[in-house]
Amino acid sequence: MRSLNIIFIAPPAAGKGTQAAILKDKYGIAHISTGDLLRNEVNKKTSLGLQLKEQMEQGKLIDDEIVTNLLKLRLQDKDTLNGYILDGYPRNINQAKVLDELLKELNKEIDYVFYLDVQEELAVKRACGRLQCKNCGRIYNKYINESMPKQENICDDCNIPLTHRDDDNEVSFKNRFETFLESTKPLIEFYKNKNLLYIIDSSKDKEKASKEIEKVLNIRGE
Ligand code: AMP
Repeated sequence: MRSLNIIFIAPPAAGKGTQAAILKDKYGIAHISTGDLLRNEVNKKTSLGLQLKEQMEQGKLIDDEIVTNLLKLRLQDKDTLNGYILDGYPRNINQAKVLDELLKELNKEIDYVFYLDVQEELAVKRACGRLQCKNCGRIYNKYINESMPKQENICDDCNIPLTHRDDDNEVSFKNRFETFLESTKPLIEFYKNKNLLYIIDSSKDKEKASKEIEKVLNIRGE
């Protein structure tokens, strides 16, 4: 079986994590979220973690080298042998070029780049209402009917309280969205030129976006 290697590019709260989790389950490939790798460092309260916490809460991008080092280690884990989904990397053109070099070194490839398109007004609503289960990683939203937990603030599957990300507030969201427009959006052209880009409408519900992604993968025989 050949490996399946996917990159998601999207504004904050466009549904990268949700779509990545669906593909991980369906294809048995690794879901690599650089945001999660960084949050792990913050939770460990290492000196690096303390330094990252403040920048992440403000919605600023973390230094390319720090993120790339964490990614390099993660890409060498066994679960990436069938393929991977990169959720949150690259975030700028420099990271995309570094990634090309890194993948060459690790003998890995990129097969698809999905750009999840969503309007700012909807993304801010998704971000500010987003809740996550620390145990299973499932994402809920307290403002969107189809994504609400059955019991307020409790995970349907694990029955434990849900948590809210420190950077999911309006001020931080604004910074993250501006950073997206300035640094991340140019990646659309970068990957279009490499014939790897597919645009997905992520403003509808998660099933519809997932079907659009599946359609692309089916056409190419995955
Ligand atoms: P995310 O979970 O993808 O929304 O990322 C949360 C935060 O982690 C971002 O706002 C950045 O501060 C940081 N971050 C995640 N991925 C990267 C990256 N590739 N480069 C720089 N900072 C990142």
